[in-house]
Amino acid sequence: MGEFELIERLFKAPAAGLAARRPGVLLGIGDDCALLDAGPLAISTDMLVEGRHFFRDADPAALGHKALAVNLSDLAAMGAEPLGFTLALALPAERARDLPWCEALAAGMLALAAEHDCALIGGDTTAGPLTLSITVFGRVDPARALRRDGARDGDDIWISGVLGDAAFALERRYAGRPASAAADLRLDRPTPRVALGRALAGVASAAIDLSDGLAGDLAHVLAASRLGARVDLDRLPLSAELLALSPGQRHRLALAGGDDYELCFTAAPAQREAVLAASRASATPVARIGAVSATPGLVWLDAGQPVELALRGFDHFAPAL
Ligand code: ADP
Ligand code: MG
Repeated sequence: MGEFELIERLFKAPAAGLAARRPGVLLGIGDDCALLDAGPLAISTDMLVEGRHFFRDADPAALGHKALAVNLSDLAAMGAEPLGFTLALALPAERARDLPWCEALAAGMLALAAEHDCALIGGDTTAGPLTLSITVFGRVDPARALRRDGARDGDDIWISGVLGDAAFALERRYAGRPASAAADLRLDRPTPRVALGRALAGVASAAIDLSDGLAGDLAHVLAASRLGARVDLDRLPLSAELLALSPGQRHRLALAGGDDYELCFTAAPAQREAVLAASRASATPVARIGAVSATPGLVWLDAGQPVELALRGFDHFAPAL
């Protein structure tokens, strides 16, 4: 099957319906460009590379899901409504010949796209080491967008879902030991918190999605807002599997593990009821874990007492320890 047949079969035909009925999309796959009529847009790109972000034997449907999920997570963290996305795909020749594999990849991606009314509107396909690069487009009122630089002294710090399960599953997989099915799902098929993010637009003061661990990602918000924070370790939402580990392991996975794709956001204490209403409306659990302070730096509290944790978020180009 040639390049154009592959694009037609995997992407153009299956994506045509959603693109045709999605308001704001004037023209989808098939021309030199897609055409949108959409007002202010939030735009983000995230790339998954074989051997770096996923294993060679990864399930193709889960891979398709995750490639789009991590991008939708960025829209969620901005409070934006998904509109559409483009896919740049590099595919080794032997994978391109494996039609069931390719169809599962596309199906996993397009199922999540349909769930979020996010139309595949274009892309590029080339031979090369397996790489999926997606750019998402979302609608958001710029005045209500959840930027990283909006936190204020005294704001509450909140987290959606639970932390550390994906990192736990990854560590187990490297060690050749099984994790729970629930933890595996968190790693392989993360849930982008789109409905929560949208409900928080205009309520939260700042937000980020957790891709590299709370310690590093919250530090990005604090740096952008030029503030510090304290976080209560005993308020962190953790699964039973993490709670069964030693405090050191638990904290490392929950705070410096990656791939959670939960939202970390700040909001004024006066917004607590509004935050809980957003949580209920989006059926997404949230937990209040700390507070922003004027003093720079991140202070971890255990039973109210400051503790030292040697942690940092993931950095692809960090020098080896
Ligand atoms: P061009 O050469 O003009 O850039 P291509 O031949 O690369 O166009 O692509 C043909 C059409 O198929 C374009 O509309 C492009 O957006 C779309 N397309 C190519 N690859 C993908 C892909 N992986 N996913 C979605 N659409 C794609
Ligand atoms: Mg062209």
